[in-house]
Amino acid sequence: MKKNKRLRVLSFIVIGYMLMALLWWAILLHRKNTEVFVLKSDLLKEQFMNTAGVANVDVTTMPEFKELKSEYERQMYMIFGEAVVFGITLILGIYFINRAYVRELSAADKQKNFLLSITHELKSPLASINLILSTFIKRDLPSDKIKELSSDGLKESTRLEELFNKILISTRLDQAYPFNFESVNISNLISTCANRFQNLHPEAKLIYNIEPEIIHSVDQESMVSVIKNLLENALKYSPDEKEITIDLRRPGNQTIIEVSDHGIGIPKEEKAKIFDQFYRIGSEDTRASQGTGLGLYIVKQIVHAHDGSIKVNNNDGLGTKLTITL
Ligand code: ATP
Ligand code: MG
Repeated sequence: MKKNKRLRVLSFIVIGYMLMALLWWAILLHRKNTEVFVLKSDLLKEQFMNTAGVANVDVTTMPEFKELKSEYERQMYMIFGEAVVFGITLILGIYFINRAYVRELSAADKQKNFLLSITHELKSPLASINLILSTFIKRDLPSDKIKELSSDGLKESTRLEELFNKILISTRLDQAYPFNFESVNISNLISTCANRFQNLHPEAKLIYNIEPEIIHSVDQESMVSVIKNLLENALKYSPDEKEITIDLRRPGNQTIIEVSDHGIGIPKEEKAKIFDQFYRIGSEDTRASQGTGLGLYIVKQIVHAHDGSIKVNNNDGLGTKLTITL
């Protein structure tokens, strides 16, 4: 950010200097143009007085003077017109270069944050698995303890697998993801996802409002990933009240999928940013949980590939409601 600020100040100084130089050249040229005009009108006056043999004359009514004046005015407009066009081009050029550079810097920043968070995300499950395996080697454990530790280890390795899947999907979505659209019974698909989620997370209180037999053309695999991400977020960002509602309805020819929770909610100013790649809200509440900031980016990319849209709202005063319209 410090770099960005310095760059902005520097570009303002360069723009300011060049605009002043431009203005100065325009004023100089205008002065020269005026001098030439005055000299030419004096010459015209003298020539006329010599030929007519008179002591004084008003040249302003003569057609030659009018022509001189219109040429003077044309050149004046040309000088200031070119200065304005050149000035605007210069400002726009520097503005766009600056914007592209700032974007590059912020992309690099995001990558750095991602690497930091991913290192942490990779380290903690690996450390747990290592600890479990070394316990197995060092100690003779009763079979129920072995079972318990193995299931912990399995949870950690599943977490790692999911993390790699997210990175893989997100990278593939950035390039060319092989979507396979087909008519799918979304009601069944969502119920299956939600049931699986409920089994994995018994602490969640899932409420189903699913209209039966809704058929829509979707890519099954990626749609499952969308539902999973939304449910995961709803649970992860609900430290106390873990009631999550999943709605599916079809008003007209639109299919609407909605996941609502009663968790920590999303501040107004963060709502537009949460779909950005690697973005995580910088609050203590979010930092307390694990994550890479890839989930909603993946969701948004998939929804857009289905010609759909996704919106985030508050859930009746408390919590979050994410609405997908297909
Ligand atoms: P990942 O999904 O990759 O494990 P993540 O959950 O942090 O990590 P996203 O799913 O992209 O990343 O969400 C981005 C951010 O939006 C989160 O870090 C969180 O701050 C906020 N967020 C998302 N869903 C909710 C929700 N239901 N309630 C409150 N905050 C949310
Ligand atoms: Mg998430």
